[in-house]
Amino acid sequence: MANSCATIAAFLRQASESLRDAGVDSPELTAERLLMHVLRCQRAELYLAPERLLSHRQQALLGDLLARRVRREPLQYLTGEVEFMGLSLRVRPGVLIPRPETEMLVERAVAFCQRELRGIHPLRCLDVGTGCGNIAASLAAMLPHAHVVAIDCSQEALAVARTNLSRLRLTNRVQLVRADLRSPDFARKVGGTFHLVTANLPYVPTGELSTLAPEVKNYEPHLALDGGPDGLALYRILIPLLPQLLSPGGGYFAEIGVGQGAQLRTLLEGAGLGEIEVLPDLAGRERVVFARRQRERA
Ligand code: GLN
Repeated sequence: MANSCATIAAFLRQASESLRDAGVDSPELTAERLLMHVLRCQRAELYLAPERLLSHRQQALLGDLLARRVRREPLQYLTGEVEFMGLSLRVRPGVLIPRPETEMLVERAVAFCQRELRGIHPLRCLDVGTGCGNIAASLAAMLPHAHVVAIDCSQEALAVARTNLSRLRLTNRVQLVRADLRSPDFARKVGGTFHLVTANLPYVPTGELSTLAPEVKNYEPHLALDGGPDGLALYRILIPLLPQLLSPGGGYFAEIGVGQGAQLRTLLEGAGLGEIEVLPDLAGRERVVFARRQRERA
């Protein structure tokens, strides 16, 4: 990077401009985040010493990260981290970046367990398509009596999830299993029944992948996004297995996309589940479905 970017203030100014020109959201914030990452400092420190000189190495690193963000690589892949439910998680290319909308699924699932499944110990949870382990880790962190089986078909995702669980010291209560929902021995590999099943499976219809933001369509794994012709291919496999996977009274929470609520409701009814709800996110879009396996009569 040119010498004109040798101070914090100069980098902030010039990087914000390049990012804005490239159409990146929140250009100033992004420039700050890149500096905080390279200088390993808090935001306030940038403004306490704006004339601080950057070393050649720091300038080179910043130049490289800035160029990648200008090409629309997601910020979280550049810094390698993301915050989810107050937990700091590692992410890297090859694994989906947890979205803020998914926090609602976790909040609802935790509230359900606290309200409806009180006194069950251990509380057995299953997270299908765990990715970097964000749902599994936050369930385990918020429900100290929970034991979670977290499944993914991607070796890469499981490696990242393993790192996250060990950094959070949750490996004793979250078990990672490699299994593919599409394979006939899925239920056997999972083993047993669960009080809670969560899933954030790919649900974007294949034909809509090209309409997603460049950060998503060009950099995030399509394996975690592409849900087949109408987006529901994998939910169509998982839902019929739920009566087998859920214990009586157990709850199911899954993330979905806009316009998929009605179809999900039909699938869940078809599997014999009840108490079905389609819950909107903060922006009012259909985002989470809930269903429950009937309790056994006394
Ligand atoms: N919400 C994600 C997106 O907008 C999709 C995640 C998924 O398919 N599970 O890109």
